[in-house]
Amino acid sequence: MSQALLIVDYTNDFVATKGSLTAGKPAQAIEQRVVALAEEFRARKDFVYLPTDLHVENDPYHPETKLFPPHNRLNTWGREYYGELQTWFLQHQAEQNVTAFPKRRYSSFAGTPLDQWLRERNVRDVTIIGVCTDICVLHTAIDAYNLGYNITICQDAVATFNPDGQKFALAHFKNTLGAKVI
Ligand code: ZN
Repeated sequence: MSQALLIVDYTNDFVATKGSLTAGKPAQAIEQRVVALAEEFRARKDFVYLPTDLHVENDPYHPETKLFPPHNRLNTWGREYYGELQTWFLQHQAEQNVTAFPKRRYSSFAGTPLDQWLRERNVRDVTIIGVCTDICVLHTAIDAYNLGYNITICQDAVATFNPDGQKFALAHFKNTLGAKVI
């Protein structure tokens, strides 16, 4: 049965030193691992999804406007993937098994076709990587849990703003969502 890799929000705004909402060094440190996993899934013809925040600056109707500085705006450098993932994506984005799509909430399932795509492809196992471990990766994992998917988290391919958040989320994946943390 096919598997899917979800690469959550690995963009310049969340990862690069000059990104507007950056997790900084811990996020930059997972770059090689993120790209290696993308290539591993692609090469064995599994599915690679890149759920990516999309925001409109100062959107008065969006709850994140009050919570975070503007990030991941359409057609900006900040919304491009960070480092070698951008190179990898440009190379493979036209392939059928590689799909980037916008999301408007923390969870990659909220208001997106992701659950339908996975069901159409008979995917029951999802591996979630990217940033931030305790925000968008966590909310995506919670929805995956509620929808009945088997979840794997690669702990060397997720990162967040601080060690406490990382520690909490990794424990939560394992102990509360029943995820395989590898
Ligand atoms: Zn956002």
